[in-house]
Amino acid sequence: MTAVSAPTSAGTSFDLGPARALSCRECGHQIPLAAEFACAECFGPLEVAYEFGKIRREDIEAGPKSIWRYRGLLPVPSDVDSHPNTDPGLTRLVRADRLGAALGVKNLWVKDDTGNPTHSFKDRVVAVALAAARQLGFTVLACPSTGNLANAVAAAAARAGWQSVVLIPSSLERAKVLTTAVYDGALLAVDGNYDDVNRLATELASEHEDWAFVNVNVRPYYAEGSKTLAYEVAEQLGWRLPGQIVVPVASGSQLTKVDKGFREFGELGLVEPTPYRVFGAQATGCSPVSAAYKSGLDVVAPVRPDTIARSLAIGAPADGPYVLDAVRRTGGAVEDVTDEEVVEGIRLLARTEGIFAETAGGVTVATAKKLIETGQLDPDAETVLLITGDGLKTLDAVADRIGPKATVPPSAKAVREALGF
Ligand SMILES: *Cc1c(COP(=O)(O)O)cnc(C)c1O
Ligand SMILES: [Zn+2]
Repeated sequence: MTAVSAPTSAGTSFDLGPARALSCRECGHQIPLAAEFACAECFGPLEVAYEFGKIRREDIEAGPKSIWRYRGLLPVPSDVDSHPNTDPGLTRLVRADRLGAALGVKNLWVKDDTGNPTHSFKDRVVAVALAAARQLGFTVLACPSTGNLANAVAAAAARAGWQSVVLIPSSLERAKVLTTAVYDGALLAVDGNYDDVNRLATELASEHEDWAFVNVNVRPYYAEGSKTLAYEVAEQLGWRLPGQIVVPVASGSQLTKVDKGFREFGELGLVEPTPYRVFGAQATGCSPVSAAYKSGLDVVAPVRPDTIARSLAIGAPADGPYVLDAVRRTGGAVEDVTDEEVVEGIRLLARTEGIFAETAGGVTVATAKKLIETGQLDPDAETVLLITGDGLKTLDAVADRIGPKATVPPSAKAVREALGF
């Protein structure tokens, strides 16, 4: 069980629902709920520890049509849905028979997270971070971002009436800059890559106590939002776990929390705790976790990212070692694909399922293909691919490869000729 005893030191108690303490993932040291992210004993990352009440399927099914139906499993107050937030989640789980046929997988599903308010899975983590930050007394929502997080933070802050401070690498895709700027928070482009921007954010977080950097000083709460992907997949499959799931990896947080979400559902008796395998997907141009996996290492050596999959371009992934743990424990793997394969992955998903994913989705599809071709993914097991972002934000990835077949005069004959009829 994930239950823990209440924190020993008598700190302020915040209403964060079932959350009871922050616990170090390395040494287990516990502290009261607060805006902390690193263990004072060993500098290990802190994680939310819970004491769950009785959670029943019927109550979840009767809940809000958003991630808040799982509020009893998240570090948020029970009245979370009464505060303005973007209320993401409950995106489609799509049966993908045509993509399955193309890949040689019999039983394939696509979790289509392009359907979130700002068109990526980041709305999930930001909604939880905002809800927790409100309880912890913050008034400004901030982040360093590779793009999608910038959108989600700026939108959630706008809706909540909060100020936002968003830091992005200056090389970011134009679409992701504009789709952040439109919410009119404070957006700053920083000369440097994501890892530089992240370091800057960590420095600022220690100097501005009212700024909640969602993925820095409130990261333990933020990260829990990714569990909702696993909860939804299990609920949408009819309250059971899939046999395999392929998850894109940037910092690695999403993958570790998808694993945690499946595990919790099993422990709470919401699903049969059947075995599942978790696979990680990276772009070769930023594949530090895949490289460590293939070398049999437990530590992840940082790299300098060079890939069109910018939303996954984190060269020093904070959760890298925990990704390695999760994939090895569940019998999965981490694999990586070239930018060329990423574009092919985007086009394959679009052509077979009518879903236009961003580069991260191309990474997931292309990695699934490679995992099958190399015999790592079982083509007979029920498989879910996480498609985490929308292709409209990364048009440049496909722009010079696709377009109209021809430009014709407005005549039926010209159309038939152009189509070769
Ligand atoms: C951020 C992001 C991810 C992965 O996030 P991590 O939790 O940092 O591994 C995956 N897909 C998209 C589209 C993202 O924006
Ligand atoms: Zn510790």
